[in-house]
Amino acid sequence: MSRFQINILGCGSATPTARHNPSCQVIDFRDRLFMVDCGEGAQVQMRKMKMKFSRLGHIFISHMHGDHCFGLPGLLSTLSLHEKTGELTVHMPQEGVDVFSRIIEFFCRESTYDIKISPLDPKGGVIFEDHAITVESFPLYHRVPCMGFIFREKPKLRHLRGDMVKYFNIPVSQLHGIKEGNDFVKPDGTVIENARITTDADKAVSYAYCSDTLFDERVAEAVKGVDTIYHEATYDDDMLEQARQRGHSTARQAGAIARLAGARQLVIGHYSKRYITPDILVKQASEEFANVIAANEGLKIDLL
Ligand SMILES: [Zn+2]
Repeated sequence: MSRFQINILGCGSATPTARHNPSCQVIDFRDRLFMVDCGEGAQVQMRKMKMKFSRLGHIFISHMHGDHCFGLPGLLSTLSLHEKTGELTVHMPQEGVDVFSRIIEFFCRESTYDIKISPLDPKGGVIFEDHAITVESFPLYHRVPCMGFIFREKPKLRHLRGDMVKYFNIPVSQLHGIKEGNDFVKPDGTVIENARITTDADKAVSYAYCSDTLFDERVAEAVKGVDTIYHEATYDDDMLEQARQRGHSTARQAGAIARLAGARQLVIGHYSKRYITPDILVKQASEEFANVIAANEGLKIDLL
């Protein structure tokens, strides 16, 4: 079974509190780790959740507010003390590149690995791709330039039917092509349709991270068809006006985005420190969209 797991390392807003760390998530995709936002406490929480620093290859920072990036200098420095090798790419909005380049130059002078900073195009687009996954960015609507990220597993191969492979005596050299959807042509020219010799592939999974943003239907458009959506839900209904002024969303608005996008499940987080529990936020989001999960430090969500 292939792994596509969301790990919540921080889900509070603005500042660290006794209840929550600021924003940070790690996507564990088949044992490779992709970090999204890196608030204070990220590296401590990684340790608590027993994640291997060496597996971290990319960090995606949504915007340059401290609660989304103050964990970065400490984490990058620690990686060097762990003698990480190879390369680590930090994707961040252009406006953060100069200041973080200087911090890295100053504190990570004798780094054991290469730290690359890659500026995000404010228009969005594919920012990482390999044989199994793509990562796209898309614009959000906050007080400063802010991007969301979509992780899409690439389409999987069809399953071979062992009985049919044996029955038609299909040579090994053709099996991969058949998994990709090819028909089998027997030596006498007879065509055996793919549907007879395979079963459907497992569904490719996708995950969208909607960081700090106003409610905006363009966000739903950008994440349309994504399986699981994380969306900030800083406030409840009574704080609607404050949410608008501060460039944030209410839980109900997060629910509306998930509904408009046709998601299967919604994860909410980035709670204001005024809430002792996320209960009221879950309740109000659920009135718009049925399947709501409240983020919490240490939570692991398997997307399968
Ligand atoms: Zn912010």
